[in-house]
Amino acid sequence: MQYDYLIVGAGLFGAVFAREAGKKGRKCLVVEKRNHIAGNIYTQEIHGIQVHRYGAHIFHTQDKKIWDYVNRFSEFNNFVNSPVARYRDELYNLPFNMNTFSRMWGITTPREAQEIIRGQIEELHITHPRNLEEQALSLVGRDVYEKLIKGYTEKQWGRECRELPAFIIRRLPLRFTYDNNYFNDRYQGIPVEGYTKIVERLLEGTRVLLDTDYLEHRAELDRMAEKVVYTGMIDAFYNYSLGVLEYRSLRFETEELPVENYQGNAVVNYTERQVPYTRIIEHKHFVYGKQPTTILSREYPCEWKKGDEPYYPVNSEKNDGLYEAYRARAEKEGRVIFGGRLGSYKYYDMDKVIGAALSLCEREL
Ligand code: FAD
Ligand code: UDP
Repeated sequence: MQYDYLIVGAGLFGAVFAREAGKKGRKCLVVEKRNHIAGNIYTQEIHGIQVHRYGAHIFHTQDKKIWDYVNRFSEFNNFVNSPVARYRDELYNLPFNMNTFSRMWGITTPREAQEIIRGQIEELHITHPRNLEEQALSLVGRDVYEKLIKGYTEKQWGRECRELPAFIIRRLPLRFTYDNNYFNDRYQGIPVEGYTKIVERLLEGTRVLLDTDYLEHRAELDRMAEKVVYTGMIDAFYNYSLGVLEYRSLRFETEELPVENYQGNAVVNYTERQVPYTRIIEHKHFVYGKQPTTILSREYPCEWKKGDEPYYPVNSEKNDGLYEAYRARAEKEGRVIFGGRLGSYKYYDMDKVIGAALSLCEREL
């Protein structure tokens, strides 16, 4: 055997594992089916602007160890994500906070906002929210739900809010202070040279084969290493033999415009159902860019089918059950370890992916 580990996928999970294994003297080979490293955190420099090719990525964490870890591979700026939501011609600050409520109802104090929301919730008589609609209504009331949640969520997931699990909306902070920070985490920022540089540094000294699909060259690749760390789709590994896990996909339309500043913010969400995209990202604003032109990406959610890029796992009961069946099978594998967002069929933020990769290293190396 030439290698100790064959790592399938040059995303964040695979790269962290490669780096730590290399430090412990293990030989790794990384195979990646795309023509670039970094998986979904890939940023590509175009005319001096770091373009987030697979959607906007903001690093945020509560965990000081993980913050220190990523800071070893790049300098981070002090960007704080404060998206603006646009409903028709009305602009609201996100997440739901006093700026949002003041704009919505013309009020100024937390008490007024709480009274309005309480009044709207009481009319609904929801005691145990059973789905996203009931959860959202019972957190923020009808006005905020109708203008800022319903249309956006139905576009994003291609389903009625009543058919979606409640936990999706609990990801967003709700506060009665004038604070537009989208995250509650203590540490937050954007790597000033782009995310690809971080992954490049993590992979320094490790051999990487691009344009190489493990599933197409399985027999020969398996012969090259003692063990496999697999960060691709778990159902694809088993040739979908128990069934196909569903995902939500995205399509990005990216254009460069000859203006310095198009929308004045990195992220603007379009919360109306009628606008076909969910958000416009203006990439330069993540790093306070001053270039003469600007690059925008419109994000269009779409149905996923086999062969498309899988973005968001659809955590319905059916899919979670199917994943459990695959996981039970995966646990019995002697020489294959599954990891990352696709191997775990989980919506995983970057800090959680790093944490999971580091815990695997502790157990394995
Ligand atoms: P990936 O990045 O998907 O890497 C897996 C790699 O494996 C890919 O490069 C893939 O091509 C490769 N691969 C798969 N199958 C094979 C095969 N058969 N052979 C060879 N290679 C294969 N997180 C945050 O913390 N903050 C954010 O703001 C944020 N925004 C996000 C926005 C969007 C739209 C999405 C979808 C995710 C966002 N995330 C965010 C999550 C973040 O993208 C993930 O945490 C991270 O990319 C996961 O890394 P990974 O290595 O697990 O997976
Ligand atoms: N959401 C919404 N309106 C918004 C932004 C988000 O209703 O303007 C809902 C939507 O259901 C989304 C969820 O909140 O799926 C989580 O939002 P987040 O920004 O975390 O989504 P992501 O960045 O992961 O796509």
